[in-house]
Amino acid sequence: MRFIVFDEDRLGLVRGDTVVDVTSLVPGSAGPAGPLHRLIEAGAAEAWSEAELRGLPRRPFAEVSPRAPLPRPAKIVGAPVNYLDHKAEMAENHSIADLGVFLKASSSVIGPGEQVLLPYTDVRTDQEGELTVVIGRTARDVDADSALDHVFGYTCGLDMTIRSTEDRSTRKSFDTFTPLGPAVVTADEIGDPGLLELETRVNGTVRQRTSTRDLIFGVRELVAYTSSVMTLWPGDVILTGTPAGVGPVHDGDSVEVDIGGIGTLTVTVTASSARPYARRPGRTEVPTGVQP
Ligand code: MN
Repeated sequence: MRFIVFDEDRLGLVRGDTVVDVTSLVPGSAGPAGPLHRLIEAGAAEAWSEAELRGLPRRPFAEVSPRAPLPRPAKIVGAPVNYLDHKAEMAENHSIADLGVFLKASSSVIGPGEQVLLPYTDVRTDQEGELTVVIGRTARDVDADSALDHVFGYTCGLDMTIRSTEDRSTRKSFDTFTPLGPAVVTADEIGDPGLLELETRVNGTVRQRTSTRDLIFGVRELVAYTSSVMTLWPGDVILTGTPAGVGPVHDGDSVEVDIGGIGTLTVTVTASSARPYARRPGRTEVPTGVQP
């Protein structure tokens, strides 16, 4: 199944060019985590019958506006240095087994068509296109063999990051730094998550192209490892890491992440609220050559 969240908190089941509005089948009441999160928590989708779906409203896909499928996940886990070519590019000798995973703020999520806000005028902000895992069932210390039983599905993600000296959780947690979507495709439709083609384009030019076959920790290992550290809950997301080809984005850029079988996530970049790095709050030292 292929789900989108669209318009004002509607949950859609995408079938070809049509979106079936399944919001009325989702248990619970509206909240900031959104209808897909409620559906995943309830584990309800598998029980839907064709007869039930037949009576629901339908919309042409072209007429709806997809939003972030999971606008407020309880956890966003990131995987540092998880492709060999990116490891070489970053001159990094370590990978996840040594570095562990990191967390991004859930307030950093945006959806397709939204804008990434560059925080600084004079610090590089890079794009990292990543296969993104959506957890379906609570996972605590699961082994790699059963890890995929805990996965609801997959979507496209961008792990935006500034290149500076702060801790990863700061550099990657600015508001708008985790674009997700548009569709979450259920695990049964994807099959092996280690056979997906991923491409990231900036203004139409390919920057990153890889197969998830080249992940150092594949999805199984990543879910198993992460669950050995922290309990994963339904609706948590894991960004699986980025291949070589990260690079700076600038005001006006369009960034696309395209994953075979899942779809294409497109966002734009703006510097409209960027400030000089030296003007960030709390900075006390005076920059060289600048009068206090
Ligand atoms: Mn990343």
